[in-house]
Amino acid sequence: MCGIIGAVAQRNITKILLEGLLRLEYRGYDSAGLAVVDKFGNFNRFRCLGKVQKLIEATQNKNLIGFIGLAHTRWATHGIPSEVNAHPHISEYIIVVHNGMIENHEQLRKELISCGYFFSSETDTEVIAHLLHLKQKQHGGSLLEIVLQTIPQINGSFGIVVMDRRNPTILVAVRIGNPLVIGCGVGENFVASDQLALLSIANSFIHLEEGDVAEISCDKINIFNVMGNIVNRNEIKSHIHYDITSKGNYNHYMQKEIYEQPTAIENTLRGRCKNKEIDLEELGVNIKFLKKIRHIQIIACGTSYNSGLVSRYWFESLANIPCDVEIASEFRYRKFQVRKNSLLVALSQSGETADTLAALRLSKKFNFIGSLAICNVLHSSIVRESDLYLTTKSGIEIGVASTKTFSTQLTVLLMLVIKLGSLNGMNLEVQHNIIKAIQTLPYRIEQVLAKDKMIEEIAKDFFNKNHALFIGRGDHYPIAMEGALKLKEISYIHAEAYAAGELKHGPLALIDDKMPVIVIAPNNELLRKLKCNIEEIRTRGGLLYIFTDQNTDFKDTYNMKIIQLPYVENITAPIFYTIPLQLLSYYVAIIKCRNIDQPRNLAKSVTVE
Ligand code: GLU
Repeated sequence: MCGIIGAVAQRNITKILLEGLLRLEYRGYDSAGLAVVDKFGNFNRFRCLGKVQKLIEATQNKNLIGFIGLAHTRWATHGIPSEVNAHPHISEYIIVVHNGMIENHEQLRKELISCGYFFSSETDTEVIAHLLHLKQKQHGGSLLEIVLQTIPQINGSFGIVVMDRRNPTILVAVRIGNPLVIGCGVGENFVASDQLALLSIANSFIHLEEGDVAEISCDKINIFNVMGNIVNRNEIKSHIHYDITSKGNYNHYMQKEIYEQPTAIENTLRGRCKNKEIDLEELGVNIKFLKKIRHIQIIACGTSYNSGLVSRYWFESLANIPCDVEIASEFRYRKFQVRKNSLLVALSQSGETADTLAALRLSKKFNFIGSLAICNVLHSSIVRESDLYLTTKSGIEIGVASTKTFSTQLTVLLMLVIKLGSLNGMNLEVQHNIIKAIQTLPYRIEQVLAKDKMIEEIAKDFFNKNHALFIGRGDHYPIAMEGALKLKEISYIHAEAYAAGELKHGPLALIDDKMPVIVIAPNNELLRKLKCNIEEIRTRGGLLYIFTDQNTDFKDTYNMKIIQLPYVENITAPIFYTIPLQLLSYYVAIIKCRNIDQPRNLAKSVTVE
């Protein structure tokens, strides 16, 4: 994961680097560092364990001047989070920041040690610095040349930015497996893991493509492929404004993002629901192609995987299209059979998820009818490398735990289901009813958000809990999975989800009066069955929290709390029931004093395998 930012300018870029780093902190936050060189070649490096704020404090009053520099916020893969392992890494005059993993680092380390190199860190990254230095010593050549010569020796994934402090006018950036974007300024240029870091200083961007090597100076950007041949890349204007400090009236980004869901869904629907019809013209394909689709293969990770699982129920029951959903990291290493006329759907919030991207690339060698990305970031790798794409219009999501990108992913998936269903003879009335339900969803979510005080109250019960079970049935089983995932990621309570019918095959053994069981119980055709499972838990003294519709007949009793929620249509209920579970995790995490927006050991954009 990790966040990288580099700058070359004719002014002091120290503050730009630090501010950019703050915006990249969602990518990793175990340690941070920066290295700057002024125009006389004076060099300074600062690194520290912990968050970017600590680095900011450590560099304050140091009067740092840099006209060129690199900065990094780390999510450790090799070597514990510590000051010595923090980036940038240095080999005499070569300075490197890296996002990714070097798979042959052990072998390279041995070879470099035998050449006399001393390693000051445990990271895989340090081998890159020494290798470049060795190349320079052996053969000379420009920074670009030594980078191009070194790339074939390194296996793995590496977004790197490199500088040579003896020539403080050039940055070289490589994108192999990890994203990098160049921000183009006037008489100054920047490079970062995400354009978010550069929004206040540049408004036109070049997204490096896989295998690109860029040579960046104040007034020139040259881009090459790994063979050293020049390639052309488009400069794209962006008008996004971003103010990192604006949580509005909210205490956390996650809280803000939970409350933004009605608007995020409205934005996602805009222009796509027309005259009682779903219009996905933006796909740019003719109806004939969509009609041919006979199978959907979804690949995703984490929260996106859960949204894929919900959509499987929809694709099969409403559009009559068989659908499989698989975790991308499993899919990519499995010998799979491609079904006839199968569309590969890659779900990702960031569009940079390493496993999903790798699975998407792999799928190109197989006989899929095409690939479709559903993603929140328009210029991301997954969007660019898919044949078709549909974006969720959530706006930037900063909290590490996904919330609004989950509900908008489901919104897009449901629109796709209706579109494909309509081509497969879905009854018109059914279509209209679903469209009406999606259009009312923002309003329904506002109503459920208004219940937050009730959920805050329930959260207090979890103060002393170390475990929790979530259960659901049908399309609410994946919602139970999402609820459990949210609770564990931000409150660190061990939480598991089960299909309610599975309880007696094992998990019932866990039930006692200390084990909270959260039941997702909408008023649908499976409620009768679910009630039997609830009884099984009650009989064994379990502690029940039932999230249900106001019209069901559950009664608050000893060891059974009923959380009555407003009415929602069955079809959109999975999206709707996610909201109180997000709020529950949020309030539990508050009570437990967790770092809500940056939970331990996690990062938002998972760009390593
Ligand atoms: N592998 C490098 C390290 O552990 C970079 C990690 C990252 O991409 O976050 O320092």
